[in-house]
Formats: sequence, C-alpha cells, structure tokens
Amino acid sequence: MLSKIQNCIVIRGGIHLWIPAEKMDDFDEACNLARSQNSMIRIKDQRINPADVVGVFTAVTMEETTRRKNGEWQCKVRGVWHNRGDKCSCKSIEAEKITNERFKKFYEEHGFYPPE
Ligand SMILES: [Zn+2]
Repeated sequence: MLSKIQNCIVIRGGIHLWIPAEKMDDFDEACNLARSQNSMIRIKDQRINPADVVGVFTAVTMEETTRRKNGEWQCKVRGVWHNRGDKCSCKSIEAEKITNERFKKFYEEHGFYPPE
C-alpha cells in the first residue's frame, strides 16, 4: 500500500486526527460550512466542533513537538536530535570534510586509517 502524506488535526483536549494532506481543502471547507451553520464537522464518523480545532499540522511538526515534550533537543550544528542532558558532538559539514581528507591522505601514505 502506498502511504499518503498525512496531516494531523489537533483538537482541544489533546485529540489527534490524521487526515490525508490532500483532504486539507475539504477540511477547510467543512470548517467554514460548520461555522456558518453553527454545526459540527464530520470526520470518519466523528463530530468535531470547529471552535475546538487548535490547528492542522504536518507529521514533521507533530514529531518535533513529541520529541521536545520528551526532552529531546535539536542541535544547530547538523540538526540532529539529542536526548535530554546529552551534549552535541556533531561535526559541522566543513569539519567532517577536513577530517575525511586527513583520513584519506593518511590512508594513501600508510595503507590504513588512523585512529579517530
Ligand atoms: Zn548535534
């Protein structure tokens, strides 16, 4: 099965409803209609008060939020997620390039790689 891109409707009270990203316009329309008619939005046999919709977010935003809630943090060096309290030891792309070149040169001269 081909997995479609899903977006998450976040509803007050902490409810998450995932809908295909391509249904976003339909959802907006349903929201507008529900608001104008003072009625509920119907999604998958459920009814939602449009006033309780906090927002619709991408899977990436949802994942980042969960990670931050769990204490993880994203470093600026390489955008890698680290656990709470862990220090970042990521090398910048430039630093990594220099190290790789040094390793390559060492290998060419000695026939084996130097210790890290
Ligand atoms: Zn890092």
